[in-house]
Amino acid sequence: MLPVAPGPVALRKTLGIMLSYRWRLVGVLTLQVVAVLSTLVAPQLLGRLVTRVSGGTATTGYVDRVVGAIVVVTVAGAVVNRYAQMRARVLGESVFADLRERMMNRVVHLPLSAVESAGTGDLVGRTTTDISRIEFLVRTGVPQILVCVVTIVLTIVAATVSSPLLALGLLVVAPPVWGMMRWYLPVAIPTYRAGSAATARINGTVTETVEHAQTVDALALGQRRQEAVQRAVAEAWSLEHLGVWLRRRLYLVLDVAWRAPVVVILLWGAFLASRGVVGLGAITTVALYAMELRKPIGQLMFWIDLVQVAQASLSRILGVEEVAPDRVPTGQVPQGTQVRLEGVCFSYREGHEVLHDVSLDLVPGERLAVVGPSGSGKSTLGRMLAGINPPTSGTVSVGGVSLTDLSEAELRRNVALITQEHHVFSGSVADNVRLARPQADAATVTGALEAIGAMDWVRALPEGVDTLVGSGHLALSPAQAQELALARLVLLDPHTLVLDEATSLLDPRAARVLERTLSTTLAGRTVVEVAHRLYTAADADRVAVVMDGRIVELGTHDELVAAGGEYASLWRAWNQG
Ligand code: ADP
Repeated sequence: MLPVAPGPVALRKTLGIMLSYRWRLVGVLTLQVVAVLSTLVAPQLLGRLVTRVSGGTATTGYVDRVVGAIVVVTVAGAVVNRYAQMRARVLGESVFADLRERMMNRVVHLPLSAVESAGTGDLVGRTTTDISRIEFLVRTGVPQILVCVVTIVLTIVAATVSSPLLALGLLVVAPPVWGMMRWYLPVAIPTYRAGSAATARINGTVTETVEHAQTVDALALGQRRQEAVQRAVAEAWSLEHLGVWLRRRLYLVLDVAWRAPVVVILLWGAFLASRGVVGLGAITTVALYAMELRKPIGQLMFWIDLVQVAQASLSRILGVEEVAPDRVPTGQVPQGTQVRLEGVCFSYREGHEVLHDVSLDLVPGERLAVVGPSGSGKSTLGRMLAGINPPTSGTVSVGGVSLTDLSEAELRRNVALITQEHHVFSGSVADNVRLARPQADAATVTGALEAIGAMDWVRALPEGVDTLVGSGHLALSPAQAQELALARLVLLDPHTLVLDEATSLLDPRAARVLERTLSTTLAGRTVVEVAHRLYTAADADRVAVVMDGRIVELGTHDELVAAGGEYASLWRAWNQG
């Protein structure tokens, strides 16, 4: 699983985000204070009116003036309030957009090893379910919460100014709400967080089953997959159930707290008035304030609950930022193009070392074939050379600089890995190629496609390089998709390339054509090819034989055949086959 940001970290980051919007926040708050102040004027004026009327000193003109003033202030307040709400919504949208971009930016720069070991379900859950859980809160909730808090604080202040003694009655709601929150929050947050994780597990299990439907079918895993989904659903259901139970308890107390203030003020007011401590006017004013408190308190109750759900989601979203980076650019510039492995050990999982103390010097410009039995560590070696996973110990360097000291962009300008996983991104053909170098102009993109020999079929598309491809658009064949990947490589222009089964998904004829194009495109570069067909090995300048995570033989094809070792017997077996 990817990490979850601990409470204090999430709080610090949230405050950091708020701080970056501080001036806009101050602006919104000021507008809201003005809007709320205008709503506080009416009860004051009405209170005075009641005092004057009950004292028999009110003239008709006075009543008219007070009513007129109330109308003017209320209308002005409504206008300011509308504007304040709008600004608050805009602010909410901006914060949400920022958060989403920040998340995407993190996700695309996550170390691949972290993504692979966490599973895509968790990450997809965080970028979809969790994001949408906080969406409503950030867009609508934050502005409303601000309004509620400002309203509650100012109303209590105004009530206290009107009659401190009466206003004490408002405090009666504080102890039960406080007690409830102390009980609720510590239980609710972990429950909601576990709920999010459980939903992500459902997503992951379902996605995995659908994506690998053929395997599920072939191995008759249907029943087991179904059970796995049911387990995940049962877990999510029981957590959801617990959540609802908690909420029911919370609402019970808050509901009473919501209705209590007006009743309390009237009773308390009647008691104080009977002793002659307060007048009717003051009771009117404070009772009206108590009524005005009901709406923001009710809204706040609603949001407090959503805040819990969102907080759990937010700590999962911000947790993505807690993944330790697997590279820290030092600004060192590689001197030359030589790639070197020194004493490299690597384990995907602790305690299961896959590569043991591998050292290898690539000769710039050579073509090295890596051969060996399946599972011996060839692909892993390729991933080390391309800097996909940093070694567990030892170093992989280019031009004397460790790959982990290079920025992602710098790394890819030096070494790149190309595998059989050819993904077509939705967008135009040109967009797909340009991913490697966003600023590349049209001629460069066409040039790259030309170099790969793809321009013929691209020209035949309805709109040439501007034809939309990928999910929901024109579907490309695996060979075409692979050619786009190779065209990207031409743009990227790394001096060292690792090809891992780059052509193995294509039919043999397409593979051969592509390999021929590749050899012209790759001329002059260092190429490491994980060879699954030995004829590629025979064409290479050198061959490395990997067995059980070690390079056991290294030399030219002829040398190794003559030496009569592992390679010689592989070669004999291949030729006989
Ligand atoms: P080859 O390319 O020679 O077939 P690999 O490098 O793919 O071998 O695999 C070497 C070993 O590492 C195998 O035992 C394989 O099960 C293991 N392995 C490969 N990829 C992963 C991974 N992502 N997580 C855990 N183990 C892995």
